[in-house]
Amino acid sequence: MREERGLREEILGWLTHSVRHEPMGAFPGDPSRRLFEDPILGVAHGGDPLFREFRRLIGKFHKVPLEILEEAFPGESFGEERIRVICYVLPIPRATREGNRHRKDLPHPEWMLTKIHGEAFNEWLRAELVGFISSKGYRAVAPVLHPSFLQFPLLSGDITSNWSERHACFVAGLGTFGLSRGLITQAGVAVRLGTVVTDMPLPPTPRKYTSPHEYCLFLSRQDCGLCMERCPAGAITSRGQDKRKCQEYQVKALKIQGPKLGLGSKITGMHLSCGLCQCGVPCEEGPPMGSGPNSMR
Ligand code: SF4
Ligand code: SF4
Repeated sequence: MREERGLREEILGWLTHSVRHEPMGAFPGDPSRRLFEDPILGVAHGGDPLFREFRRLIGKFHKVPLEILEEAFPGESFGEERIRVICYVLPIPRATREGNRHRKDLPHPEWMLTKIHGEAFNEWLRAELVGFISSKGYRAVAPVLHPSFLQFPLLSGDITSNWSERHACFVAGLGTFGLSRGLITQAGVAVRLGTVVTDMPLPPTPRKYTSPHEYCLFLSRQDCGLCMERCPAGAITSRGQDKRKCQEYQVKALKIQGPKLGLGSKITGMHLSCGLCQCGVPCEEGPPMGSGPNSMR
């Protein structure tokens, strides 16, 4: 067990060092400022029954960690017992959030830059974490970077994928879901997430919550709902977030604001951003006061 905890500390130390010092993790144009605050680490057990439950809730196409590792390493067999999902949260710093808090229509340029450069950095982080684990002699794969990762529209018009980093982070004890669809973590909802599936024997993180919506005031006790008011696209209602409406709005925001930032000639998921529902709301920087019996705030 001591050895497992040591491995956990090594992973957290590596992530923290990368977030603090890797040149790609600097805010564009200001090397003294970082794109993210120190990461939070959680580990999910690959055999957690919740992963199979997601197949029922999200769709049969949603993968379990065992499939992902076996697809990445054909011919090798891994028992579910050995599999872990490393999950991390990258909190968006207060200075960036503050800019977006006061926006009522279009996202703040610093928020847009954080999404674009932050997700490029996050892609690097996932890939390098795989390399770091491999150098220790274990198998590892970042599901969203693997060629088998798919994002596609459903008949309902919703957009989905065959691996959800938010859901894996929920299993790993990192937070619960909010009305605006984000994961409300101990650092709040204004975060980026990452996952790596591995056979490294890390100790799973216990979940401190008992319900999937424990930290959302609206979904747990019909209070708040501020993210509905904050959304300039009307994409959030009491039934949740309409991903398509949200995405259409983000395309519009990119077309209007992109040229000033040297963006907009290419429209990809990485270039889309808004986050007004994640700033200026009670869950911005942690579980809201009074939410969930296990809230640390
Ligand atoms: S703003 Fe309120 S209703 Fe919306 S996700 Fe946060 S806690 Fe839930
Ligand atoms: S990201 Fe923007 S458009 Fe999308 S739901 Fe949030 S506030 Fe609405």
